[in-house]
Amino acid sequence: MARDPRYDVLFEEVKIGPVTAPNRFYQVPHCNGMGTQYPSSMAAMRGVKAEGGWGVVCTEECDFHHTGDVTPAIEARLWTEQDIPIMARMVESVKRHGSLAGCELVYGGMAGHNLYSRDVAMAPVAIPMEGTAPGQARAMDKTDIANFRRWHRQAAVRARDAGFDIVYVYASHNLCLLQHFLAHRYNTRMDEYGGSIENRVRLLREVIEDTKEAVGDTMGVAVRLCVDELIGAEGIQANEDGRAAVELLADLPDLWDVNVSEWDKDSQTARFSEEGFQEPFIGWVKEVTNKPVVAVGRYTSVDRMVSLVNKGIADFIGAARPSIADPFLPRKVEEGRIDDIRECIGCNICVSADFMNMPMRCTQNPTTGEEWRRGWHPEQIAEKGSDGRVLVVGGGPAGLEASRALGQRGYAVTLAEAGTELGGHLNRVSQLPGLSTWARVRDWRIGQLHKLANVEIFLDSKLDANQVREFGFDHVAIATGSSWRGDAMGSTHRTPIEGIHEKGILTPNDVMAGAELEGPVIIYDDEHYFMASVLAELAASQGHKVVYVTTAPDAAHWTHNTMEQSLIQKRLIEMGAELVMGKHIAQIGDQEIELACNFTDNRSWMDRGSLIMVTMRDAHDALYSELVADPAALETAGIKSVTAIGDCLAPGLIAAAVYSGHKYARELDTEVPIDSPPFRREVMGLSNDWPGELP
Ligand code: ADP
Ligand code: SF4
Repeated sequence: MARDPRYDVLFEEVKIGPVTAPNRFYQVPHCNGMGTQYPSSMAAMRGVKAEGGWGVVCTEECDFHHTGDVTPAIEARLWTEQDIPIMARMVESVKRHGSLAGCELVYGGMAGHNLYSRDVAMAPVAIPMEGTAPGQARAMDKTDIANFRRWHRQAAVRARDAGFDIVYVYASHNLCLLQHFLAHRYNTRMDEYGGSIENRVRLLREVIEDTKEAVGDTMGVAVRLCVDELIGAEGIQANEDGRAAVELLADLPDLWDVNVSEWDKDSQTARFSEEGFQEPFIGWVKEVTNKPVVAVGRYTSVDRMVSLVNKGIADFIGAARPSIADPFLPRKVEEGRIDDIRECIGCNICVSADFMNMPMRCTQNPTTGEEWRRGWHPEQIAEKGSDGRVLVVGGGPAGLEASRALGQRGYAVTLAEAGTELGGHLNRVSQLPGLSTWARVRDWRIGQLHKLANVEIFLDSKLDANQVREFGFDHVAIATGSSWRGDAMGSTHRTPIEGIHEKGILTPNDVMAGAELEGPVIIYDDEHYFMASVLAELAASQGHKVVYVTTAPDAAHWTHNTMEQSLIQKRLIEMGAELVMGKHIAQIGDQEIELACNFTDNRSWMDRGSLIMVTMRDAHDALYSELVADPAALETAGIKSVTAIGDCLAPGLIAAAVYSGHKYARELDTEVPIDSPPFRREVMGLSNDWPGELP
């Protein structure tokens, strides 16, 4: 198919100083939990995006000096020449496809911690560290400032030597020294680097000038700037010093990559922000500079991207998450395949991997992070390994993805779903407050399945073991999902609370199915992800008084990893919910519950209406168990394999269910080792200097 002419503007070249981007699709720097620890994985992941048409592909944060070390985060690194080959691998992987490679140099300052190097961090003034204190940074004197400028210059040269086309001067996300100099709450210096905005911008200006002088004839020099910290007058504000900083530096850099800060504000989830949510804060930047501007805001709508350019808000469509969810987004636009775009759902599971220091994963894109180690390409898949016919039982995220990927391999697939629509638990979850974009996981897969003539779909088809055996398939995948328990068993209560079944307890399944609630509604969160908090919102929206009890120290505790925790807690407080933290249920009465403090075991009774248990889920594995319990019957039926996938195997994240379905499809009719890892590993290079001098 040909590209829609309305989208031509997205494929115009744009100059960034001495280099030229082939189009306006710009993968802004983003963390991925691979960095220098899994460099081949990182390089292959970036390369796939270039192949998918992103005209500029950047690194994650790249620390460049041992006094600005961002350990324990797994990021890129350019401390010395020793690091260049790793970064060169990523550059080569990107440039092979004609895209530009950008490097985001970072100096952590008071957000850096130096946990590996054990140096003392530096800041504009002596001040406690940001984040994982205890510890304080020391104030920089003029020698420190001169040293910092030299280190940045040296790093820019190393980035050039690694082959990068663009180098960043980074002042955003509250993660780096240059932003700390800009922010008046940190920078209370009395010299020419503190005080007025002219003074606070001085170091940024000097570093841009240094970088241009060092490499500016060969590389584009980009500035990534936080123009608003969204904390009011205490922080940088778009209508104050944010704008003043851009005005003062207007045409000095070759490109402005602007956003709001911190990272949780820049990468808000769909639950808390709309596509394009940053426009009110960055819309003015092009008025004050002639240099190209990059804007982010979880853009997945191509029309919206076009209007961003046509309205003069930005020259580049910046994307981190949309490029993770679909590395081939630009290519699909170019080929007129808009409905093949796999849109980001804005869940931040990708972000959670970075917080947990492990390779990135994505709810929508099961291949991310697996490009090199398993050889999974987001668009290509091996042809079927046999003419075997496959039955997939269950049409939730796991069954949908398995059927889709098996269909893509060319297998004859039958998908049987008990319900009258596909989507599994997502159908109801995506109707909960704030989660409508999650339906994209279902909708994209249904759209793809409809294009596959070799996949048959049967709705309203609840299968039992006899039926499965009668049909005569070669392989059967059981993707029958899970449902919530209502007996309190979970992370805290490792066994059910006795007698609980007579107490009229509700589960999330009951509530999502429309169970009548009675106030005060007590929601017991022993799972700590999103479910309890969205049910609290639902109950409050129906006018009930809500008591949110969690066994964790704060609301929706695990969502620290998706950067939603503070927003969730704020929302619960603002809607009038009573929050009870660090307690668990000791006893349940008919109209009350007894809570026990996790630390002291002090007890207190609380009146209750409805009690909703959010603890754990049970796999619907009865069909699977019945089938595998009778191998002779399977053999008679000609069934060669029966495999449980998704929540039926082990209830978990939607991302895990999608991954499980995808993995099943990839591995069918292949030899998968089980005594050793079924993927390539990156074993770190050993130093040549061993044993050297030992104490
Ligand atoms: P997952 O997240 O693993 O995909 P879900 O719970 O979202 O799991 O989806 C499971 C799907 O399986 C549901 O749509 C459910 O209706 C369907 N299902 C469960 N049991 C059967 C069965 N015996 N036959 C057909 N479909 C089934
Ligand atoms: Fe988007 Fe979620 Fe994938 Fe991140 S994990 S890219 S937010 S779909």
